[in-house]
Amino acid sequence: SLAMATTMPWFGMDIGGTLCKLVYFEPKDITPDEAELEVETLRNIRRYLTKNSAYGKDGHRDTHLQMDDVVVRGRRGSFHFIRFPTSAMGKFLELAKDKGMATLVSSVCATGGGAYKFEKNFREVLNLSLHKFDELDSLLYGLQYVEMNNPTECYYWKHPTREDKCEKVNFDFSQPYPFLLVNIGSGVSILAVYGPGVYKRISGTSLGGGTFLGLCCLLTGCNSFEEAIELASKGDNTSVDKLVRDIYGGDYDRFDLPGDLVASSFGNMNSKDKRQLVSREDLARATLVTITNNIGSITRMCALNEKIEKVVFVGNFLRVNPIAMKLLAYALDYWSKKALKALFLEHEGYFGAVGCLLQLHC
Ligand code: ADP
Repeated sequence: SLAMATTMPWFGMDIGGTLCKLVYFEPKDITPDEAELEVETLRNIRRYLTKNSAYGKDGHRDTHLQMDDVVVRGRRGSFHFIRFPTSAMGKFLELAKDKGMATLVSSVCATGGGAYKFEKNFREVLNLSLHKFDELDSLLYGLQYVEMNNPTECYYWKHPTREDKCEKVNFDFSQPYPFLLVNIGSGVSILAVYGPGVYKRISGTSLGGGTFLGLCCLLTGCNSFEEAIELASKGDNTSVDKLVRDIYGGDYDRFDLPGDLVASSFGNMNSKDKRQLVSREDLARATLVTITNNIGSITRMCALNEKIEKVVFVGNFLRVNPIAMKLLAYALDYWSKKALKALFLEHEGYFGAVGCLLQLHC
């Protein structure tokens, strides 16, 4: 019904292995009549969410991603994008309880593994039931909606290896099919997408964003993803890894392998002397390069197998992570002799949550 937007808040939640993504639709076309009928609790929640960009210690709103003037089922408004670590779910539920969430709705749309794992907690703390949706269906549905509503959503990296010339360039993704979708979250899923809602999951790897962060914490003692990326951006992997030139003394010409290519990730770290020469920054960089190149290599094989040329990378591993994006762009370019195109999306980690919200029907 038309009054729905004001009588209940619209949320979509994607509760992943590492991060919980929350998308909130703020109606902006509230009529005076609706405003009069609106309950105070709902108005307070809307203000709380839209006037702040931090919630408690762990919650963040990605204000730069906000989408204004979008239409969802006949209502006009804004999408707000919020995330917090899934490990803070207990605190989130208490906060939602304090804000009176439970008095407004009886059910919330949720996807991701946490929609199953935390179902009991939502019922016990908030008396809310979860309306569960499949995470890959939601991911594709959300991606399609956001891409259609944001003309600058999709981009690629031009000259990914040239510091001076490298730039983000808008890509027209209005004719997307077929494409490969590589979702790099805690783990990695690779989908082949042939049309709206027509896809199959073709591969995956457990060596994903969670592996990068876990190994980085072990090797460098860092405590957050942001810190890990910061370290990596100042490091150099070439003393940690064994390169082709460490083995050949130069290029391996016969098979076109350049000397600066990694032959063995972390391959120099068996030597005590070399271990003493590397910094935390170098170890962080090597971890990032190892995980990213492995994903690039699996992706390339999938693309060749499926005969698909467009590859879209999403997931929060790519958040504030231009090093990984450029490596993926380069890996696909280089090894496929330019046949493959690596594409990226601005709302990288939020499509599951958007797709979940869009599937709400009450
Ligand atoms: P999931 O649904 O499995 O939680 P995401 O798409 O949310 O997956 O991506 C999680 C990954 O994103 C982490 O493993 C990490 O590599 C990266 N990441 C980006 N920002 C953060 C952050 N603030 N905290 C933790 N991990 C982050």
